[in-house]
Amino acid sequence: MLEIQKVELDIKETEKSIIRLQKQAEELTAGMEELKKKREELIKRRERLRAEIKKHREKIEECEEGIRKSQERLNLVKKAEEYKALLREKARYEDCVIKLSESLENLKKELEGLEKSDEEKRLLKKMEELEEELSDIRYSISRLGGRLGELKKSLEDLISKTEDSLLAEYERLKKKYGLPFILPLDAYGACPSCGTKLPSALYSKVIKGEVVSCPSCGRLLYYEAQA
Ligand SMILES: [Zn+2]
Repeated sequence: MLEIQKVELDIKETEKSIIRLQKQAEELTAGMEELKKKREELIKRRERLRAEIKKHREKIEECEEGIRKSQERLNLVKKAEEYKALLREKARYEDCVIKLSESLENLKKELEGLEKSDEEKRLLKKMEELEEELSDIRYSISRLGGRLGELKKSLEDLISKTEDSLLAEYERLKKKYGLPFILPLDAYGACPSCGTKLPSALYSKVIKGEVVSCPSCGRLLYYEAQA
């Protein structure tokens, strides 16, 4: 019975460890997703800036072309009114070039800052660390999974070797007290669960290696030599 209890407790402990590790793995995976998202945002922002810069350059070229064309026509017109209108048109194009050049500079600065910053490197490094931690945890989970399989197998073996009446008694006590219900006597010769000191007759039986029921709570007690 003590063997069965030991294996059952081991199984419980192992299952608890696996669940704990699985939770950790889930948290790490969530953290990883977060980092991936941040990195994607960074990349998108950079792409948006590049596209914006390209658009600015094209528009500036268009306006410069506009200036050239207005100038050409200015050289040809005769009427004063037309001349004035062309001057206004040219001024609009010049204005466009000045304004867009300014905002192009700002965009270029922003992109440069983004490319210089080590934010992305930092994210990648963090991701690598998380990945390593995750693979450690996955390894531990699979190792514990193997151990759990072995424990369950040895429990089956133990059960198949144990008499039915003894198994029924084991199940009855387990249901009544929960695990563990077979306990080593404490250093004062008392039941570690309820604290009752064993009468000397029972105590000497336990010392000789017998398993006895605690007269107070009914749990099974055995003697374990002090280390
Ligand atoms: Zn007791």
